[in-house]
Amino acid sequence: MATDSPVRVRFAPSPTGLLHIGGLRTALYNYCFARKHDGAFILRIEDTDRARYVDAAEEDIREALEWTGLDIDEGPDAGGPHAPYYQSERKEAYRTYAEQLVEDGHAYYAFDTEDELDAMRASLATEENPNPKYDAQTRTEMRNSLTLSDAKVDELLDAGAEYVIRLKVPQGEKIHFEDEVRGHVSFDASGLDDQVLLKSDGMPTYHLANVVDDHRMEISHVIRGEEWLSSTPKHILMYRAFGWDVPTLAHLPLILSPNGGKLSKRDADEMGIPVFVTDYKEAGYEPEALVNYLALLGWHPGDDRELFSLDELVDAFSLDRVGSSGTQFDADKLRWINEQHLREKDDASLLERVRDVAAAEGYTPSDDALQEIIDLTLDRVQMAHEIVTDNRYFFEDPETYEEAGVEKRWKDDSADLLLAYADRLEAADAFDTDTVERELRDLADAHDVGAGRIIHPARLAVSGRSYGPGVFGLMVGVGRDACIRRMRTAAERLG
Ligand code: GLU
Repeated sequence: MATDSPVRVRFAPSPTGLLHIGGLRTALYNYCFARKHDGAFILRIEDTDRARYVDAAEEDIREALEWTGLDIDEGPDAGGPHAPYYQSERKEAYRTYAEQLVEDGHAYYAFDTEDELDAMRASLATEENPNPKYDAQTRTEMRNSLTLSDAKVDELLDAGAEYVIRLKVPQGEKIHFEDEVRGHVSFDASGLDDQVLLKSDGMPTYHLANVVDDHRMEISHVIRGEEWLSSTPKHILMYRAFGWDVPTLAHLPLILSPNGGKLSKRDADEMGIPVFVTDYKEAGYEPEALVNYLALLGWHPGDDRELFSLDELVDAFSLDRVGSSGTQFDADKLRWINEQHLREKDDASLLERVRDVAAAEGYTPSDDALQEIIDLTLDRVQMAHEIVTDNRYFFEDPETYEEAGVEKRWKDDSADLLLAYADRLEAADAFDTDTVERELRDLADAHDVGAGRIIHPARLAVSGRSYGPGVFGLMVGVGRDACIRRMRTAAERLG
């Protein structure tokens, strides 16, 4: 294992669809590890599977990394000493490496057609082995460069026959490796297929391209999802065949559904849990919160801290506190973390954030009004957009009035009191909380009623509700003209 070489890690997504939160977590752990060890964080696009290629996927990956602040040191945009960082543009090199393995006796050409493969599977299937593999047992029966004469192989290659290059997996061997997360891992090589390394279209499979690039890009640590653990023995055999050092390996635990089991798209949909990063952005989560939450989904800081900025995560991160068992997704926890990050924002960035949210809803309040609204509502929301969407009365006159509130609070004299209050507000020198409160109390005294007799109808008139932030602040947030108009309208509507 290459232990004292500089830390170089990579995030190596395949652009086959939108980036999954599990993918973002992998990127995050790689990023934290790189920054913590003054290493390099590399983005490599694994786009050799042209059948599964999705055009918009790469842009989605780029946006997700940018949104969450995971800066790339080397990659398609950043460039770097190992460019290109698209595997599809490194095609020729993979062939050379695959041919080298053939030459050295670790791989072979296989000319079998699909029909021949099917026939092999059918004829060799037994009760104990219903799905025979292309392996040490069966390869001797197939059409490949191990069974055909050299002359025949040359003839086929010259004639342009279709072929793949397969790894010659040794028989009956145990493959051992140390995983930073899972500890000692061992696999029986007999369970492995003679993996196709180079496909008939000349493209490498994931396995070949991944190993070749991790080596050529001098990757020191491979940190990736647990779903790749079962591919690792093949990779180890390839490193061995090439005579290369195996990078340090770390396989991250699965993200589990709240019901147990892997968090699948379907499961998540049913529970209203988004699985794609872009959906979290759309749903209005703060990127800092998503990053914080994902960090805790598989890693533990070793103390009881739960709130981290990205820099704090970098500081605290270590692979030895990544758990080996899966962690259940907890939507409530994510919302709670979002709430904490929202409150931690400085005034200017919070104002900007909420201004964007308001604009998206078609509202363009002044900064002063918006600041007032934020001050009044921040401790009642978990998401930035709730400041706006849970409190639309700040921006729009109420169409209706909460029935139970009207029943309980709207009295015979409410309309007259509100009309009088509206007149006072119209004549007042200022419209701040002190003034609106003083005018209300003076009016109550003048009519010899308790202040509540005006406060509750005023709240109903202005917001349409019987609950919410303190009524004087609420009125200032709504603004003088709107308050007066709403009181007069309510007096008319509710009588
Ligand atoms: N291209 C693989 C993926 O999409 C990369 C796996 C790895 O990191 O080795 O996740």
